[in-house]
Amino acid sequence: MLETARYNITYAAERLNLSPDQLKLLLEPQAEHEFTIKLDKAIELKAYRIQHNNKRGPYKGGIRFHEQVNRDEVKALATLMTMKTAALGLPLGGAKGGVAVNPKSLNLTQLEKISRAYVDYLAPYIGPDKDIPAPDVNTNAQIIDWMVDEYSKLTQDTSRASFTGKSLSHGGSLGREAATGRGGVICLGELLKLRGHNRPLTYAIEGFGNVGSFFALVSQQDQPSWKLVAASDSSSAIYQPEGLNAQVLSDFKAKGGSFKDFKANHVSSEQLKALKVDVLVLAALENSLTSKNMKQVEARYVVEMANGPVDKTANNYLYKRGIAVLPDIIANAGGVVVSYLEWRQNLLNQQWSEAKVNQKLSSYMTEATNNVVNIAHQYRTSLTEAAFILALKNLS
Ligand code: GLU
Repeated sequence: MLETARYNITYAAERLNLSPDQLKLLLEPQAEHEFTIKLDKAIELKAYRIQHNNKRGPYKGGIRFHEQVNRDEVKALATLMTMKTAALGLPLGGAKGGVAVNPKSLNLTQLEKISRAYVDYLAPYIGPDKDIPAPDVNTNAQIIDWMVDEYSKLTQDTSRASFTGKSLSHGGSLGREAATGRGGVICLGELLKLRGHNRPLTYAIEGFGNVGSFFALVSQQDQPSWKLVAASDSSSAIYQPEGLNAQVLSDFKAKGGSFKDFKANHVSSEQLKALKVDVLVLAALENSLTSKNMKQVEARYVVEMANGPVDKTANNYLYKRGIAVLPDIIANAGGVVVSYLEWRQNLLNQQWSEAKVNQKLSSYMTEATNNVVNIAHQYRTSLTEAAFILALKNLS
């Protein structure tokens, strides 16, 4: 993923005639924090916060808890955050954090301990005007609430603008939980409109977690002619050509269900990606489409709702085949857009209505999609390359 991000930045820098020094500043993080968290006497976990670039404003980006977290992954994700905030025109920079742990193996007490210890180490380097972390894979409002509480105890900060993605009762924003999924629906809807595609369509979602489930729920409401025909979680993939109900799937998952136990036709996750659907939504993890499986894609549109799900080889290949990849730094930016709105509300000591938040989200996403499509025409490039060109224009 790091290689793909750097490749895209280098390509965009060449197209914009940036100097080698300018390029170097965009490739390397400004600060890297690597430390250990002691869970008990026998277990030490590796933890990271990588602050990539703060040229446009305070560093911004999530924290993930996942056993595969490592320095290069966090570096790539931090780089993508800089590109994301810049492409969306937000006055924020890019960072990412992570702890190498499988949260499913932990109880609540252990989760809280890790969350607080993470902040104990990083408190001098983060804060409302320095670096504002948020949730990411396997982290949620509860974890962020613990982190804000710890930060406030250590620093006496009462603004709660130190983190975003908080629960509503702890200074969170209406619309934040659904924001990434909603943003993806807006972005895809706009792209289809610009391309004159106004027929009903079918789609499959890889990864029915927070992002994937809200993509499906919001599109069921706002885009009734889009039919969800397949969805996967880490246990299995289900496929029903006559259509799946997003609310039913979301309720099933909310009760702790695994798709392997859901009554429907089951396919493998690789088969899901090869289905003959109009749109393939990738909302699981990075490197989902690579040289190994890119040739099997039958969809006409691929939406990167995870960070880095299509690697550079697959991206180039799909572009040549005329398959549009809606890039992560635009498609999944709804989360950080509403994080920005949450931070603003905290600093102003206000609470905006959900309608106001969604309306602002919609205008950010629509404008960014239009900008990317225009740049793709102007520079005769893929949407991914265009999104990086847009980001670099806003960073230089
Ligand atoms: N983790 C999300 C992302 O990758 C949100 C980051 C944020 O809100 O700061 O975009």
